[in-house]
Amino acid sequence: MHHCFLIRNADTILTMDDTRRELKGGDILVRDGVIEAVGKGLYDDDAQIIDGRGTVVTPGLVNTHHHLYQTMTRAVPAAQNALLFGWLQTLYPIWAKFGPDHMRISAMVGLAELALSGCSMTSDHLYLYPNGSRLDDTIDAARLIGVRLHATRGAMSIGESAGGLPPDSLVEREADILEDCIRVIDTFHDASDGAMIRVAVAPCSPFSVSRELMRDAAVLARDKGVMMHTHLAENDEDIAYSLEKFGCRPGQYAESLGWTGPDVWHAHCVKLDAAEIDLFAKSGTGVAHCPCSNCRLGSGIAPVRAMRDAGVPVGLGVDGSASNDGSNLILEARQSMLLQRVAFGADKMSAREALELATRGGAEVLGRDDLGRLAAGKRADIAIWDVSDIESSGSWDPAALLLAGPTQVKDLFVEGRHVVADGWLTTVHLPEVLRQQSALVKGVMDR
Ligand SMILES: [Zn+2]
Repeated sequence: MHHCFLIRNADTILTMDDTRRELKGGDILVRDGVIEAVGKGLYDDDAQIIDGRGTVVTPGLVNTHHHLYQTMTRAVPAAQNALLFGWLQTLYPIWAKFGPDHMRISAMVGLAELALSGCSMTSDHLYLYPNGSRLDDTIDAARLIGVRLHATRGAMSIGESAGGLPPDSLVEREADILEDCIRVIDTFHDASDGAMIRVAVAPCSPFSVSRELMRDAAVLARDKGVMMHTHLAENDEDIAYSLEKFGCRPGQYAESLGWTGPDVWHAHCVKLDAAEIDLFAKSGTGVAHCPCSNCRLGSGIAPVRAMRDAGVPVGLGVDGSASNDGSNLILEARQSMLLQRVAFGADKMSAREALELATRGGAEVLGRDDLGRLAAGKRADIAIWDVSDIESSGSWDPAALLLAGPTQVKDLFVEGRHVVADGWLTTVHLPEVLRQQSALVKGVMDR
């Protein structure tokens, strides 16, 4: 496949490269899924031309934490106003009715919503596998929608009868969990540059699996050369649980089981203290910051400013659609900017830095130095934002997208493929996918 295109004369290109270069009236030349050049006055005889006038161009956004299956349980009445643990106990019995079709269709809807908001690469955390569901269902969905997926093989092993939160029907035997981790890594994980699918190992949280599984999962992940992911230090209940059950804070617990390092990223980390931030910075442990979910569940404000200043890799996550309840990543980036400001001051998170979290930051957290910036040799994941419309009208700095700018992308390229064109998803017929999701949701409500 030889395919070459030239984005020409964009109002601004926010490269997020090593010098955070911004080009006015710039061009990007892409050949066979790779960025060949970023500059001015570029030219190629064979290139298809994409007119960049009236647009701001950024790297494709990167989402580092999601539970795509929850797209089928948005705004469930009994979970609307509950705290985290009560929220989980309301939703578990509903999720227990899901099967492979629910997993695939909900993932397609969530991935489509992400793509329309400029997201070219996402992680997903699937930690329950009822009625024959498999990680394969989510991976199928990503291939159909056309976005990059870091699928994480989540797990829960401590059910109600053993003193855990989830019903016994949603937990698995630890030996089965590890065996399926090996299967999905061997089947799907692609370690190469430009990989569309990677796999990571991801027990749901320290309170839903045993200490042994946390440790064994880390050993397995390192043996296979894949990354590790879980939820950590999400709220005060989470800290209290750790102190009571493990006699230490979540950061220490993670460290004692091998869960720190550049191959690890933890979701939330709202309640990390100064020593834990230091530990994460020194070890290169990443954080998936999920501001809307933290607001939605009343968990608190993550100390992102302090994490960034200490050198902790931080990316953004929309989190599951039952706790957001949306998957719009550009709005999530705006929320991250606002939340740091309300806690620490208006000068503590600029629009450009928050956009950096959503692009380069996320790519770093997911271990992808081939992505997250617009530079020669990087993969062609590119978002083009229309700044000629109402949201940007009157803006003195349209490149400050998170202050005044569109909430949906105009064009999105993933590995050079035109996944969103002029605001429309090109890869699937979205109304049909939404119809299928509605039918499945109705089926679950009726049972
Ligand atoms: Zn989560």
